[in-house]
Amino acid sequence: MYLLIVFLALCFCQSVSSVPENDVPSANSTKALFKRVDNPTYAIDGTCTRYPQVQDIVNDWFQTVQVTSHRIDLGRADPHFQYAFQVLFDTDPNSNTLYKFELVEEPITAYDFVELVTTSLASLTPHADPDTKANLIFYCDDDAMNPTPYSNERWQLVPDIPGDPNPNSGRTLGINQEWFDQVNSISRTPSTKGCKDVANARGEPTELETYNDPITPFLYGNRLPPVGILQPTRSTITICDCVLVANNPYYPTIASSLTATLNRPRRQSPLRLYRPEYGRIVSAGLYHESTHWMDLKLEDEILRDGSIAYGWSKIMELNTFERLTNADTYMYLGLLARYESLGWWLDRHEGRAYLGVMVPAPAGWIPPW
Ligand SMILES: [Zn+2]
Repeated sequence: MYLLIVFLALCFCQSVSSVPENDVPSANSTKALFKRVDNPTYAIDGTCTRYPQVQDIVNDWFQTVQVTSHRIDLGRADPHFQYAFQVLFDTDPNSNTLYKFELVEEPITAYDFVELVTTSLASLTPHADPDTKANLIFYCDDDAMNPTPYSNERWQLVPDIPGDPNPNSGRTLGINQEWFDQVNSISRTPSTKGCKDVANARGEPTELETYNDPITPFLYGNRLPPVGILQPTRSTITICDCVLVANNPYYPTIASSLTATLNRPRRQSPLRLYRPEYGRIVSAGLYHESTHWMDLKLEDEILRDGSIAYGWSKIMELNTFERLTNADTYMYLGLLARYESLGWWLDRHEGRAYLGVMVPAPAGWIPPW
């Protein structure tokens, strides 16, 4: 599959706690951990100017963020959206079952948790102030790295510690070698190769990657960072070159994927969410990645067979609790919301719905706005 999350260390496998239904949390206390910064912003780094389609991709991501949040806001009263929610999260949106997450302070219903995620994403706005950095920055530098200490590339090799019998410079990229982003003061797990991973365990390149751990003094060459370099509120998403160069197999936007699908010769209607090509939409991948943003830090769930829960069919194997904290679940929530806004909805036949079959909505139907 096609997406990679860098921080798998946190485990959300704790069991669902049963809490009395009258133990409903107050909105403020629950939202606290989802709102680490006020008025969060996003921006496109200058490295993306060589790929003019990135503006369209980011605009499509932002549109999906807004549409999805809006659908969740209104969805409690919309039977079509409730049905899609039921299939995707395997729970009735009106269920009062409460779930206990490390991400929120008190138990919360599934629908309210999803609303916190979508509302938090929708709180992002385009960055306007040139004097400060955005909280979420999109890069197109293919994870530029340079092992020479204090060179100009974004990713810097953590300098060797004198006397270290296993100096960092001699370690292996993607296994145990430590790098840090000198521009954004972000560290990365040694287990990732970022965009340099041209053939991962599934034989496919890394397409997008999110970095969301602020640097620590230890990682800055074991020295105290300069004043102001610690920016614990910023994350970056790299859009790797492989999804941006000419003749790649990816659709830039959700709208372009739908157009291409409908124009395909002898097209087999309808849309099928489980097909890989519907995951290979760069802006939809950005939606997945943006749920790894440090204000959310959702994870990529691991299935019992050790595979990562990428793709519709693998999400269908997860329980509700796992689906709620799985980044790719939200990518499909975004796809469902956007396709609905474009006149498609999930098949009313339950068996086909669980296969991710989308069909044209009845003529004249428009989503309730
Ligand atoms: Zn991920």
